[in-house]
Amino acid sequence: DEVVDERTADTPAPAVTIKVSSRDRVIFPESDVTKGELADYYAAVAGIMLPVTGHRPVSLVRCPQGRARACFFQKHDAGSFGTAVHQVPVREKDGSTENYLWVDDADGLVACVQMGSIEFHGWGSRVETLERPDRLVFDLDPDEGLGFAETKKAAEHLKEQLAELGLTSFPLLSGGKGVHVVVPLTPQAEWPAVKDFASRFAQALAQAEPDRFVATMAKAKRKGRIFIDWLRNQRGSTAIMPYSARARAGAPVAAPVLWTELRDLDTAARWGVRDVGELLNRANGRSLAGWGVADQVLPDL
Ligand code: ATP
Ligand code: MN
Ligand code: MN
Repeated sequence: DEVVDERTADTPAPAVTIKVSSRDRVIFPESDVTKGELADYYAAVAGIMLPVTGHRPVSLVRCPQGRARACFFQKHDAGSFGTAVHQVPVREKDGSTENYLWVDDADGLVACVQMGSIEFHGWGSRVETLERPDRLVFDLDPDEGLGFAETKKAAEHLKEQLAELGLTSFPLLSGGKGVHVVVPLTPQAEWPAVKDFASRFAQALAQAEPDRFVATMAKAKRKGRIFIDWLRNQRGSTAIMPYSARARAGAPVAAPVLWTELRDLDTAARWGVRDVGELLNRANGRSLAGWGVADQVLPDL
């Protein structure tokens, strides 16, 4: 059967009007990737990145002097990014309201790069349905000693357990060490219910295989185990967005993959900003069609 994903089928690179200054500034010293190259990367992948990243509050990892110098995580802004970067007022726990950033086009992505951003982290909900998440993510963080083989197996295990609950999931290489297991949701349940599900699911896996998994933050308990970070699934938390570059050596990117491909990969940093052609081919071809798309709601747990 021909599966056509309308979000990724032959998406042309949208036009960019934002001017990027200091294009020759080296942002990734290990591989000489410049600010101009990074801006061009985001302009090129905008068509495949925005279907997931667009219309979602984003936090940025900004490294104005390059990834080897000071970087900071930015959630709010009063308008210094210009009009291509939109704002959505969000009520905080303490009752105050903060403006969060979101983008919906290539100009928005490039405007963030112009401001020194490297990474795009997104909420689990969209600005139109802020209180109703449209995705769950389990961030698998292996302890130091563990290899990618164990991480892959863990991801596969989560996939199977989710499938038993009737949930389709998709793997995302983080571009760093781990794999994120992404579960698309129809925005229906609100944050507390979604967080509760994520917590219960992760705790159940850790309880069933305590030598292999841990579901609590405590570093001491992680020795030789994989931390199933379910805490990405609370209101205000973020996870790396597909096709975001990472502020790590070699300019890797977070990359969607198929479960069948994951088995043969040996690193979560398989693709980088210089692989833009290959990333576009993969996304616009048939192989990744349907990645991240599933109309489903959480079961009771
Ligand atoms: P890796 O595979 O190497 O673990 P990762 O993207 O999963 O890469 P983590 O360190 O596990 O990185 O972080 C998980 C998520 O926590 C990030 O994707 C990000 O959205 C969020 N995060 C990271 N740093 C901060 C921060 N300073 N403040 C708030 N959230 C953060
Ligand atoms: Mn992680
Ligand atoms: Mn984590």
